[in-house]
Amino acid sequence: LVEVKEGLARILVPKAERIYDAPVFYNPIMSLNRDISVLAVKVLGPKGVLDALSATGIRGIRYALETPAEEVWLNDINEEAYGLMKKNVGLNIGGELYEEGDRSYLWGEKIVVINRGDANRLMAENFRYFDFLDLDPFGSPVEFLDTALRSVRRNGVLAVTATDTGVLCGAYRNACLRKYLAEPIRGPLCHEAGLRILIGTIVRYAAKYDLGVGVLLAYHRDHYFRVFLRLESGAKKADRSVSQLGYLWADKSGRFEYRRGFLPDKPGASGPLWLGPLKDESFVEKLIESAKDHPLAHKKTLPFIQLISEELDVPFHYDTHTLARACSLTPPKLDVIIQRLKDLGYSATKTHFSPTSVKTDAPFRVVAEVMKNVQAD
Ligand code: SAM
Repeated sequence: LVEVKEGLARILVPKAERIYDAPVFYNPIMSLNRDISVLAVKVLGPKGVLDALSATGIRGIRYALETPAEEVWLNDINEEAYGLMKKNVGLNIGGELYEEGDRSYLWGEKIVVINRGDANRLMAENFRYFDFLDLDPFGSPVEFLDTALRSVRRNGVLAVTATDTGVLCGAYRNACLRKYLAEPIRGPLCHEAGLRILIGTIVRYAAKYDLGVGVLLAYHRDHYFRVFLRLESGAKKADRSVSQLGYLWADKSGRFEYRRGFLPDKPGASGPLWLGPLKDESFVEKLIESAKDHPLAHKKTLPFIQLISEELDVPFHYDTHTLARACSLTPPKLDVIIQRLKDLGYSATKTHFSPTSVKTDAPFRVVAEVMKNVQAD
């Protein structure tokens, strides 16, 4: 074991050549994901938090150390992970640990519960108990969604990571049909579409429990997707969320269209996918505010949230390289395109989905025209 520091926590992690060889999983790259999650818990102020798939326990331990959450539960099915979670809680949080079968309790400044078992079983046994529930699985979260939705209190928050990017981005189409009952898309829109397919799936799962979904923040980074969703209680809220589902059509030139609707109204559609907002602006503002005096672990956390906060929240984006290729132009500078669109009275910003893309309310024809004019100048 080696000790690593992250945020206010210091934790023991197995020494391994490659992260997936380790008996208990720890990925330092995901410290940005954990930073944002810690800030989210700080801003939302939940009382009870479940880190349903904890591995070393780093995430839940950071929630206990860096947020006002009063009761934090950690869980993993793996015996070695359970042993390591106990050690790491002991290293970081004062108080005595009581063990009962596959569960340990700590009553100190905080209540910490460490459980060894199947996350689905734990969540099923704790019906509408947690104010904030975090799913951070290997690959797809779908096998945990039903029980997670039942285990969050009404109007609580569900946070979900999905690392099956290849599935959601269309590299494995059949897997996407099976797991998400959605048609993925490849090409420059694949990451945003993948994120929207993930949210769309959670909306459909939630709707049957008369739960609507309010997106607090949803993003793509590195090899994963991450969403923070407020589960709003009531059939009308669920109806409203379902009405934000629809389909996307895109071609090789970079042109796209999307429409809301239960079924696609012409062939070649990707989806169903979420066409509503990907952020709640006041929530993101609060994240930035609370990040300023926080011991963040990853140096890109704050700039990344800032980029998202400045991003125009409209569905999909134009990839300038794709457009340039289709029109046989050399790719122009993104900043120049953005400025020209603004000069014409449109909104236009960068997007975290791609360093070569623009989010704008301008129609395709205008963006293509601007590209050609910039080239001609
Ligand atoms: N949340 C951790 C972090 O931030 O470092 C990483 C979690 S890791 C990606 C996923 C964990 O889920 C693994 O430790 C694995 O043992 C555990 N796991 C897989 N299936 C499970 C199940 N059905 N119930 C509980 N834990 C499970």
